[in-house]
Amino acid sequence: MLNVPPPAFPAPRSQQRAAAGGRAKIPLKPGRSLMDWIRLTKSGKDLAGLKGRLIEVTEDELAKHNKKEDCWICIRGLVYNVTPYMEYHPGGEDELMKAAGMDGTDLFDQVHRWVNYESMLKECLVGRMALKPVTVPKEISSISEEKKQLNGMLPEKKLLGISTKDLTPSYDWFQTDGLITIVIYTKQKDMNAELVTVDCDDKRLRGEIIVNDYSYVLEVDLDHAVEEDIFINIAGKVGKVEIILKKKDNIHWKMLGQPLESHNTFIKRKNRGLFFRKCKLVSKTEVTHDTKLFCFMLPKSTHLQVPTGQHVYLKQTIAGIEVVKPYTPLLPFLPLDFKEPSCHDSANIYLMIKIYSCGLFTQALDHLQIGDCISISSPEGNFKMSKVQALEDLFLLAAGTGFTPMVKLLNFALTEVSSLRTAKLIFFNKTEDDILWRNQLEQLALKDERFEVQFILSEPTKDWVGKQGRISSSLLSAVMKRSRKDSKVLICICGPTPFTEQGVQCLKDFGYSQEEIHAFTA
Ligand code: FAD
Ligand code: NAP
Repeated sequence: MLNVPPPAFPAPRSQQRAAAGGRAKIPLKPGRSLMDWIRLTKSGKDLAGLKGRLIEVTEDELAKHNKKEDCWICIRGLVYNVTPYMEYHPGGEDELMKAAGMDGTDLFDQVHRWVNYESMLKECLVGRMALKPVTVPKEISSISEEKKQLNGMLPEKKLLGISTKDLTPSYDWFQTDGLITIVIYTKQKDMNAELVTVDCDDKRLRGEIIVNDYSYVLEVDLDHAVEEDIFINIAGKVGKVEIILKKKDNIHWKMLGQPLESHNTFIKRKNRGLFFRKCKLVSKTEVTHDTKLFCFMLPKSTHLQVPTGQHVYLKQTIAGIEVVKPYTPLLPFLPLDFKEPSCHDSANIYLMIKIYSCGLFTQALDHLQIGDCISISSPEGNFKMSKVQALEDLFLLAAGTGFTPMVKLLNFALTEVSSLRTAKLIFFNKTEDDILWRNQLEQLALKDERFEVQFILSEPTKDWVGKQGRISSSLLSAVMKRSRKDSKVLICICGPTPFTEQGVQCLKDFGYSQEEIHAFTA
């Protein structure tokens, strides 16, 4: 073996060196990783440049700070001096400069909506954007409202467009001696349990319902205490959701409670901030030499089911900074019998996570002890289950942990899609030792004749008799055969961003349509 020094942190292909979503990947200079940034923020240096003062920033003032050596950016109403952060930004200086002297909220949300800039940039905080006086002349009020919205200064409800008004859910509540029932009328006919997330922490109740691309939230500080266990009833056909709470004390409530900030709001899902709850680590089992299956238990007072194809965000405080990374929940194992829909384990979230030796987040995860808690967000993602309906051929192209979204998808297709003829997993790994759940996959292929798995290794030993190489047109054309010429096909792809991009390009070159391809990205 070559005696090479360990890779610099982060390594050239680290995700810290790459902006998400297939955007520009800028190699950071040595000493400019997220950990280095955290160290700098702890050094006591005056990073905001105002000697600890916080100021009100006008739009004119913000606009003056638009150069690399003097760059201020407004994110969600707060203004940061990002000049010292330039070299540490994974997307590179040019990406950051796009928002120099301006409101960068939209730009930041497009790239890494989950990144907690409030925490990451807190030492760079200059102050708040100054609000314009409210008594503005009528003809310009709509413009200034728009600007205030961009700055995140208006309550979310005001962001509603007229066209969504008719779709806005409504709610009501009633009580019996022992119960409080909140009824939400969503007007969505195919309502189901995966679209509803409810958390009740002490007296604080938050219910979120996804209606198409929108999110409806109820958020109240309840009038009185309730028991931990909550119940959800869904009348899918009429779009009615009931949240049932057990009163702790048998008393008459005068009101449901005090509305909190997001109460009764209906906004685009992508504009809603992430909501986290604390989950307990209940088990951690080895999958391969570097990958583990983590099982986290949801609080008793949470109702949350992660839909197929969606991910969650995990949040940990590392060296005083909140760091958030996405992970894709899967099943605890690959079910082999597809006659019955698999029983849903709604109390736990299973995550298969590769521990990188230099990984900031995964190293911290690996140090969690059984019983420790971590914050987990509500589900996110843009996979549309309608793509699987009436499907005949399913191809899953996975590299490394890019296998994780394929598990639930495969299970769903084999269990619920009666038209399915073939499901093929083409699984790219470096070595045999890296293959996740190899045994289970081979068992499944033996058990279900619709399913086939092919392992392709980029760094095989000389004993490997299977296919080898990296994703390419020639390799894909050799392994992807549909069951008949015009079959309804779906190809899902997930892995390192360049792998996914290259795969999608090959598929497009083959003539597959956008509708037939789904790439899992952030
Ligand atoms: P970083 O600190 O970002 O990277 C540090 C080290 O990691 C580097 O030095 C390098 O050695 C190594 N590294 C990082 N990426 C690679 C790579 N592609 N190839 C080789 N080395 C690399 N990960 C899972 O394990 N399971 C999941 O279910 C999962 N789901 C995801 C879902 C989405 C939507 C996305 C966008 C990513 C998902 N990831 C998943 C990746 C995960 O979010 C983190 O990026 C990953 O855990 C690395 O985090 P880190 O902070 O430990 O590593
Ligand atoms: P890995 O072990 O580094 O690589 C797995 C296979 O992919 C190897 O054969 C590797 O070949 C190949 N590969 C890597 N980079 C490639 C590239 N640029 N072009 C072509 N092939 C490439 O993978 P990993 O460490 O498990 O990483 C998995 C990735 O999946 C992470 O980046 C993670 O963020 C992503 N992921 C995304 C989601 C999502 O939903 N978006 C979910 C889970 C995981 P080589 O040996 O030649 O490198």
